[in-house]
Amino acid sequence: MLTKLWIGGGPAAALSGKIYEVRNPADGSLLAEVAEGGAADIDVAVDAAVKAASGPWSRMTARERGRILLRIAGLIRDHGDSLALLECRTAGKPLGDAKDEMGLAADTFEYYGGAANKHFGETIPVAGAGLDYTLREPVGVCGLIVPWNFPLVIAAWKLGPALACGNTVVLKPSPETPLTALALAKLAAEAGLPEGVLNVVPGPGPGCGDALVRHPLVRKISFTGSTATGTGIMKAAADGIKRVSLELGGKSPNIVFDDADLDLCVEKSVWSVFYNAGQDCCARSRILVHRKLHDAFVRKLVARTKKFVVGHPEKKGTQIGPIISARQYDKIAAYVAAGRAEGAKLLCGGVRPKGVPAKGHYLTPAVFAGANAGMKIVREEIFGPVVAVLPFKDEAEAISLANDSAYGLSASVWTRDVGRVLRVTRAVQSGVISVNTTSSVHLEAPFGGFKGSGLGRELGLKALDLYSEVKNVFISNV
Ligand code: NAD
Repeated sequence: MLTKLWIGGGPAAALSGKIYEVRNPADGSLLAEVAEGGAADIDVAVDAAVKAASGPWSRMTARERGRILLRIAGLIRDHGDSLALLECRTAGKPLGDAKDEMGLAADTFEYYGGAANKHFGETIPVAGAGLDYTLREPVGVCGLIVPWNFPLVIAAWKLGPALACGNTVVLKPSPETPLTALALAKLAAEAGLPEGVLNVVPGPGPGCGDALVRHPLVRKISFTGSTATGTGIMKAAADGIKRVSLELGGKSPNIVFDDADLDLCVEKSVWSVFYNAGQDCCARSRILVHRKLHDAFVRKLVARTKKFVVGHPEKKGTQIGPIISARQYDKIAAYVAAGRAEGAKLLCGGVRPKGVPAKGHYLTPAVFAGANAGMKIVREEIFGPVVAVLPFKDEAEAISLANDSAYGLSASVWTRDVGRVLRVTRAVQSGVISVNTTSSVHLEAPFGGFKGSGLGRELGLKALDLYSEVKNVFISNV
């Protein structure tokens, strides 16, 4: 297992000599001692990326770059089981979910491998006598910063388009979950990615991540994480007029009208908020239900929620693993306490289950009813397995409640009325909206947030715009 930084095509110790422990959130066991990157390592990694930008990588055709991405996809699949085990053990996600995610990471490289030679400029009929056309060029060195909740998948969402467009990158994984990113760097080298094109520097946000954001030779920052961190990153990137894209937090509404298919809606709704122990930016953590359906919905929701199997992520049958860290566990527990203190009714969950490893941070999924729009549990992103149900009286109130949020990442609408679908999907301020299902993230379609949920769109062909400059050329016919 690679536990050193990956710089310039091979492993490198941190210049400070520092190492830190990565522990399994399922039981506290030691998984690895990893080199801790700092500002000096970021300097070396950026130098390697700058050098690689004028090396063989810059002379490859888009088709050749695409083929390397396809080979990376193949290697992720070949090593899918071992990568999944690493992801399961560092992020605490059930092994089956981790396997699915490795498949998604491979799909992402495959998609952008195919897209590399299908992103091009245009010819424009300008008024001058001559030919006007645009070129797509790489932005330069890109700093990619990812969180711990979907470590390899989110890294792939950034690496796929960044590499397809011919950039070189420094990837900073979350300190909690650096192992699959380091393993990927090695596989990418095996796939033929020239040295220095992909550098991986695990390390803390302050001292490592911020050095990447502030580095004068980094031209683009792509960040996924909390809105608070993203706000600071945008300010720091302003100094160098860096391109910035941000995928941030959410407090997504799940709007259930009285003609919804109740059983299907309940089944999808529980997964949409409790998958990955609720540590999901798209978690539909506010369920807004028409008051005619409210009581029946809540009864079914609670009954279904109680059936979730919470336990060790490597144990067969586990559906919800541990929370990533003691700090995150305490934060979620404080929200559960705040919900009760503010008068919402905790109908189930929010406690440590029996029979789980003593040093793991396990929490049963929690359902609150009787909540209102002013409560902390309704306003703030909890990033844990907690959902609040609120009733509404009509369409106008549903829309107003849905939009009463600083965030705007995802939303769902449940109704059979086509006119209502058209009105509500248009009125809700959200980057992605699903109707009669809760799945709104698709590799081929743009993903990103309104308002405090971010800037720019990842995935699909739109993501290629984030990682390329447009150059306009005019050739006079004289
Ligand atoms: P976080 O903001 O604490 O950290 C994210 C990453 O940024 C980590 O790698 C961290 O080390 C780094 N970082 C922290 N401070 C930094 C700084 N000053 N400069 C540069 N880098 C810094 O977020 P987290 O706790 O790892 O992840 C949870 C958050 O991520 C939630 O808010 C969640 O909604 C959000 N998220 C959003 C999406 C999306 O696509 N919109 C996806 C997943 C997670």
